[in-house]
Amino acid sequence: MDQHDRTQHYIGGQWVQPSGRDRIAVVNPATEQVIGHVPAGTVDDVDRAVTAARNAFDPGVSMAERRDRVARLVAALEPRLPDIATTIGQEIGAPLKVQRGVQTAVPMAIASSYRDLLEETNFEEQVGNSLVIREPYGVVGAITPWNYPLYQVVAKVLPAVAAGCTVVLKPSEVAPLSGYQFVEAAHEAGLPPGVLNLVTGYGPEVGEAVAGHPGVDLVSFTGSTATGRRVASIAADTIKKVCLELGGKSANIILDDADLDTAVKVGVGNAFLNSGQTCAAWTRMLVPESRYNEALLLARQAAQRYTVGDPFDPATRLGPLASQTQQARVRGYIERAVAGGARLVTGGPEPARERGYFIAPTVLADVHSASELAQQEVFGPVLAVMSYRDDDEALRIANDTMYGLSGAIWSADHRRAIALARQIQTGQLDINGAPYNPRAPFGGYKKSGIGRELGPAGLDEYLQTKSVQLPDSVISQQE
Ligand code: NDP
Repeated sequence: MDQHDRTQHYIGGQWVQPSGRDRIAVVNPATEQVIGHVPAGTVDDVDRAVTAARNAFDPGVSMAERRDRVARLVAALEPRLPDIATTIGQEIGAPLKVQRGVQTAVPMAIASSYRDLLEETNFEEQVGNSLVIREPYGVVGAITPWNYPLYQVVAKVLPAVAAGCTVVLKPSEVAPLSGYQFVEAAHEAGLPPGVLNLVTGYGPEVGEAVAGHPGVDLVSFTGSTATGRRVASIAADTIKKVCLELGGKSANIILDDADLDTAVKVGVGNAFLNSGQTCAAWTRMLVPESRYNEALLLARQAAQRYTVGDPFDPATRLGPLASQTQQARVRGYIERAVAGGARLVTGGPEPARERGYFIAPTVLADVHSASELAQQEVFGPVLAVMSYRDDDEALRIANDTMYGLSGAIWSADHRRAIALARQIQTGQLDINGAPYNPRAPFGGYKKSGIGRELGPAGLDEYLQTKSVQLPDSVISQQE
């Protein structure tokens, strides 16, 4: 048995044997060692899980019960965070600081925000002579990726449970182990059987079975745009609601009056967070022509300060990529960019260490907006620095991709920054490194997705709206 072997799915409140015998190996990307296995689920396993979720779904579930479920889940999750952080360090190679911060503390803040939100939200309102009631949507299929394994699960399961939905969760085959720990917390929290179900397996089998199942009312997917398109097309046959949180190629626009030192330093940090495997990463840095060389120097210095190494060494700031596939993909992007005329400022396509799926922090200059590197999501520690002549050109470049997930603006004049923010086709923007807000709606314009996660907007996705028209006699009694 490997350290993290898991042999069962979680269905109807119990750990159950899978219908098949195939297993999926989970590899530590820093050591290339197999650290555990999970079952390769089947269509039958998904069917059992959806049946359990359907049986557990009660459209009339009380607010008190919903609040109680969320509060108990939050309470059970908190003490597990250190263990989950370690698991995430092992399954995707996130360094200690990332494990403890964005990989676990942030999801915890999001989970707690749903507990608090339920206390504040009004699920009924009167509009004219109508009583408008927001009810749980139904059975949710949640398909999550590997880059922030706990965050992705929390950002779907917590609002779904808060809304009164039941869930079938399929985590990424690359990083499924922390998902098991989350489900153990839910079990300990005493969620009623069937409210949360876990089936692990490959996307094309288990993911597609979830997306296409007639018993699933809503599928919430996070991952690549190509897979999102596939999920949406499969879901279309059964007319289910689809929420998609997809890729990004976000612009970090540094205006000519900005504090360049800070803007470049924070921008590099954002692009390299989690080894650049962040959908919202600012992967294109846009700098005025007059300050381009200065910015490149600062970016190189900042990138070279990143210590690449063992994720469990406190000195490490950059871990490996999550898989060999991902490393090969990222190397290909760097090689093609250089072959296409981009200038390597630091880093490069060679593996940064002999063992493990490492890539050195890489900065590329003279990247043209039409090039592959400026257009496609690389998902590695690779920053493209581009120059612009004036604000109009900066705006044009910022909007010149199929994506629209995130971004940043730096300026000494916040009015100028906000005016520019209004013209950028993106779901989120940070001005001058403003702090993260776990309640702010998060999601994409254009091909970055459909729908929003987090906060009240995230809760809304899991609610149906019913209008009940009231006769004059009832209205007059109210007056
Ligand atoms: P995918 O989009 O393929 O995977 C995301 C999730 O979808 C995983 O749970 C995966 O399962 C599942 N899945 C895969 N194929 C299907 C399918 N046909 N039907 C239903 N579900 C499916 O991401 P990859 O892991 O392949 O990464 C590829 C690229 O995607 C990255 O380089 C990056 O650019 C982007 N990406 C973007 C993310 C984001 O947050 N926006 C997150 C992850 C990746 P399984 O893992 O078992 O295959």
